[in-house]
Amino acid sequence: MHKVLHIKYTNNVLNKFVNIDDKSKKQILIGCVANDLCEFTQEYSDIVMRFDLLLKSNRSNFLFDSSPIYESLAIYQSHYGKLSALHSMAQTRDIPAKSTRKDILKLLAFLEHIVLNGDTEMLLKSIDKFEDILGSQIQDVTFKVYKLLDTKNIFKAKHRAIGMILHIIEDSYTKSHCRRVRGLIKTFYYYKDQSNHSDFDVVQNKNEDVMKRYLKAVLKKLLKNKSAKLEYKDIFRLSASATPSFGGDLKDTYGDFLDLF
Ligand SMILES: [Zn+2]
Repeated sequence: MHKVLHIKYTNNVLNKFVNIDDKSKKQILIGCVANDLCEFTQEYSDIVMRFDLLLKSNRSNFLFDSSPIYESLAIYQSHYGKLSALHSMAQTRDIPAKSTRKDILKLLAFLEHIVLNGDTEMLLKSIDKFEDILGSQIQDVTFKVYKLLDTKNIFKAKHRAIGMILHIIEDSYTKSHCRRVRGLIKTFYYYKDQSNHSDFDVVQNKNEDVMKRYLKAVLKKLLKNKSAKLEYKDIFRLSASATPSFGGDLKDTYGDFLDLF
């Protein structure tokens, strides 16, 4: 979803809470777009430099190239790779919906861990040290926690983590990230096959109210230093007929209608 929309929805839910101070609000808003930026932050100059080089080489699809150097870059390209759960998407094609759901819930648990228990020391640890929370899929993502949040300041980090949680939820209600049938997730998509991703990167009207209610419920708990685990489980409930991941037939405007039968 475009960052303007993330900011719109996050601002909308933040405005429902009168007691949040402006400093916290600002960091939550930064966090709600961090999911798109975390792999190319200023701190991450090595990746940025390689990215520039690749851009100059004029390869349009280098992030998806199968040669080792490009594959390793894809680990950090969050829509496609190890961090795809940051956008409620599958890592690649044919992943069972249950596994993607698990990845997303683990990532939410990790971000929530930063919000509820994080300290300055934790920010300096390597991401792969959190295998107990994140699971083995993260073991070769070796950058430090503060690079994910682009700050070593714990106040900023905690609030940005809240924003990142909201981003994951917001993405899950767009047609370009996953398909919902009567609110339940039927298919998680993956990015590689989506040439028209941005055209469908909006929240569907029928999902907007329920998304806003969940954003509010989650934010309410996190601001009170409580876990929103139950809400996450509900938000990412799978349809009984859930299918493995694919690029999504985004042009199929009748799909949602047909699913009703
Ligand atoms: Zn996203």
